[in-house]
Amino acid sequence: MIKVLDKENCCGCSACYNVCPKQCIKMKSDEEGFLYPIVDELNCINCGLCEAKCPIVNKNIQKNEIVSYVGINKCDSERAISTSGGIVGAINEYVIEKLNGVAYGVIYDSGFMPVHARITTKKDALLFCGSKYAQSYVGDTFNLVKNDLESGKNVVFTGTPCQVAGLKSFLGQEYTGLITIDMVCRSIPSPKLWKKYLEWQENRYKSQIDRVNCRAKTYGYHNGTLTIQFKNGKRYTGSNRVDLYMKAFHNDICSRPSCYKCNFKDIERSSDFTIFDSWNANYVTDGLYSDDNKGCSNIICRSKKAFDLINSIDNIELYNASMTKMFEYSGGMESKSISYNEKRRFFYKDLENIGFEKTIISRIEITIVDYVIEKIKPLYFNVLRRGRK
Ligand SMILES: Cc1cc2nc3c(=O)[nH]c(=O)nc-3n(C[C@H](O)[C@H](O)[C@H](O)COP(=O)(O)OP(=O)(O)OC[C@H]3O[C@@H](n4cnc5c(N)ncnc54)[C@H](O)[C@@H]3O)c2cc1C
Ligand code: SF4
Ligand code: SF4
Ligand code: SF4
Repeated sequence: MIKVLDKENCCGCSACYNVCPKQCIKMKSDEEGFLYPIVDELNCINCGLCEAKCPIVNKNIQKNEIVSYVGINKCDSERAISTSGGIVGAINEYVIEKLNGVAYGVIYDSGFMPVHARITTKKDALLFCGSKYAQSYVGDTFNLVKNDLESGKNVVFTGTPCQVAGLKSFLGQEYTGLITIDMVCRSIPSPKLWKKYLEWQENRYKSQIDRVNCRAKTYGYHNGTLTIQFKNGKRYTGSNRVDLYMKAFHNDICSRPSCYKCNFKDIERSSDFTIFDSWNANYVTDGLYSDDNKGCSNIICRSKKAFDLINSIDNIELYNASMTKMFEYSGGMESKSISYNEKRRFFYKDLENIGFEKTIISRIEITIVDYVIEKIKPLYFNVLRRGRK
């Protein structure tokens, strides 16, 4: 029976839940809103599968061949709604259209909560676009991926490094039809916090939410802005400088306990691709790429399959790039866990007792200067835009 029950270790990947032959594991939310496995001991037959498939107990990192690029999706509209260069979107589309396959990734459900979903059309795959900064609900996804692979389908799966490691551990064998994509992942806040944030915004704007984008490129890629469109026509925009949710995320006061000693921060990984932000693409590509502030991705191919696939996709523009240089600008997030912030200690207790806004502003300072810069930004961008016309 699964024993990785201490919270610092369990990343919540759901591999144990997916593998249990007696369906006696449930993923249950703790008081912070993160999911953990709970075993119904009466029905457990002690087969040991849950422990055998746990990626924390059995780390399966392969040493792979590595080629690195900076890339952009040639379709401007798709690149615009993606977080960096829209590369994951171009790969998903290729697998669906050219390889007649299926794509798994994270979409918002009807309440704007991030969930893993199976998608089979190019149009629906657009729902994957954009990072959602709360832990996704995996549910039965690993079993669905396995069914697809066993029936001979090509499958692309995107997730955090711990989710990809969980899937690969669950599958336990290499499938030629499977492509996995992970990212350089800072950490992940809880779905409960995200829900509280959305409710707080709905109260402020006295309207239900129509659309959310955690990192809209309204003011360019290098000035990502959390944007919420409300059903009453009002619109909220707040950058990492002033948005309370993004502030909490970037100050490391609300992440899953396992993110503070992440088992999957490593340059060597079991995925086919690692895709992440390219903050200094001119430097990384030795001037081959000229940054247009519309977003670009660092791409690491770790298998021949990944190398062949990315070079077959007409819709992606690729530039040779140095992996060492990429990591100079990643904040160390590919290999180092975030540091524990003492202000996290009673964060989720306070969230329950004093509410979203007070919990965050009692821990994080946002200065008048921050608000002034935030107010001036749209004016500055409008002037820039007019200047270009
Ligand atoms: C929680 C999180 C933390 C990240 N931290 C960093 C970081 O510290 N540094 C960095 O350089 N890049 C980070 N990234 C990656 C970056 O934001 C982009 O996702 C990446 O550059 C790919 O961009 P894209 O334009 O190709 O694809 P996008 O259109 O942005 O989509 C990427 C894919 O991410 C998947 N996805 C979205 N939200 C989630 C989620 N909550 N859980 C799992 N999968 C999800 C979707 O399935 C989608 O297909 C992070 C992403 C996430 C989700
Ligand atoms: S030991 Fe087997 S039956 Fe028991 S919880 Fe684990 S997988 Fe399920
Ligand atoms: S398999 Fe995943 S969810 Fe289950 S105990 Fe291990 S880390 Fe936690
Ligand atoms: S930091 Fe590590 S444990 Fe946390 S979500 Fe990312 S990969 Fe998973």
